[in-house]
Amino acid sequence: MQDVLIIGAGPAGLSMAAALADLGLDCLVLEQAPEAQIAAPAEDGREIALTHRGVGQLQALGAWQDLAPDEVWPLKAARVFNGQDTHSLGFEPEGTDHLGQLVPNHALRRIAYQGVQRRAQRVRLRCGTRVQGLTLGADAAEVLLEGGERLRAALVIAADSRFSATRRLAGIGAEMLDFGRSVILCRMRHQVPHQHVALECFHHGHTMAWLPLAEGMSSLVLTLDADQAQQRLADSDDAFLAWVQQHSQGRLGQLELAGPRHHYPLVATYAHRFSAQRLALIGDAAVGMHPVTAHGYNFGLYGVQVLAQALGAARQRDAQADPGAPGPLQQYDQIHRRATRTIYLGTNAVVRLFTDERPLARALRQGVLQGASRLPPLRALISAQLTGRGGPGASLLRQLRSLVVH
Ligand SMILES: Cc1cc2nc3c(=O)[nH]c(=O)nc-3n(C[C@H](O)[C@H](O)[C@H](O)COP(=O)(O)OP(=O)(O)OC[C@H]3O[C@@H](n4cnc5c(N)ncnc54)[C@H](O)[C@@H]3O)c2cc1C
Repeated sequence: MQDVLIIGAGPAGLSMAAALADLGLDCLVLEQAPEAQIAAPAEDGREIALTHRGVGQLQALGAWQDLAPDEVWPLKAARVFNGQDTHSLGFEPEGTDHLGQLVPNHALRRIAYQGVQRRAQRVRLRCGTRVQGLTLGADAAEVLLEGGERLRAALVIAADSRFSATRRLAGIGAEMLDFGRSVILCRMRHQVPHQHVALECFHHGHTMAWLPLAEGMSSLVLTLDADQAQQRLADSDDAFLAWVQQHSQGRLGQLELAGPRHHYPLVATYAHRFSAQRLALIGDAAVGMHPVTAHGYNFGLYGVQVLAQALGAARQRDAQADPGAPGPLQQYDQIHRRATRTIYLGTNAVVRLFTDERPLARALRQGVLQGASRLPPLRALISAQLTGRGGPGASLLRQLRSLVVH
């Protein structure tokens, strides 16, 4: 019987396998995509803002050094604009010179794969195979593969995306919040230097964010109602560029397309439980965040760390400890929920506030931005949350949530 079966070879599943291999556990990772797609993932438009804590976790896994120098860009500050207002709310790092680091998602996927390649004695990857059934027994968990093969393990870890089929097979429900919006991502070259400052501009009907990458290049993150997004995706390159140029208010000067457009529907998910008998959910299968506060994969890495620590502590007490024993799984569930729940709810509340076009909501968000700009401690608190230097209590988001959740 296998120690651990991990379903999904995304960045969370592969990082989990690496962390468990370092504890001396044998893992088999099951992935539906072909191995070539996992070994050399295609560019997918996502530029992931990693907090200091997220970077530290990748360093601890020995993965960070696999990134090439032109795959990491510092995020030194962020500015938030409301509508046409020329005043902005600025976020600066506290006690360091950057808020976090920007890394392309496909590079994060690649280094996670390299990490398991280095641990080939303990981690096996089986691609092109889809999980179809799951039985969680008292003595073992059993997975049924398409084609009828059955595999047994002491513990199954689901890392199979925010729409996790394993979660459903285990009978675990999830909150799902479909924002009815989509995000279009596209790299653009521009004339005005970005100075490694991100811009987030909330306009009537859409949000336009710019993430600073190489010199003279940023990633456009355009959030629109789903029907509007379809129109922008159907535009020719020239028409799309003209639309973006017109709505960018000249903040980055003359623009030029530097890559294809990618698009994602915006749906947030939160599992009702992160563990069950001989099962744990990690990554987006546990918490699928709206990207506006850039917490998704940072939470994924945090979950990997917490689960590995809980299983590691049990193995320290007893080298033969059962990896599927309930104690560590429940501990992981509680700690990860405590760290993520308020931020998940707060992020959704902020999204609602900043996409609600009713006059009261518009006035309220102006008030929130002005209030924050006049209150340096509040701004510092937001920066701390953005960079992962704040505690899991997330008091800022709790306050915002109490303002806007009804
Ligand atoms: C536009 C956008 C911007 C983002 N920006 C940020 C950011 O700035 N900062 C941040 O921290 N996060 C960000 N995120 C979130 C981040 O991208 C995700 O949290 C992260 O990629 C999730 O990784 P994962 O491994 O949990 O899931 P996934 O990457 O979804 O991987 C799941 C894997 O499971 C496999 N799979 C699924 N079903 C099965 C099955 N039945 N059998 C076998 N295999 C299966 C899939 O093929 C896939 O390989 C962003 C997300 C989006 C969409």
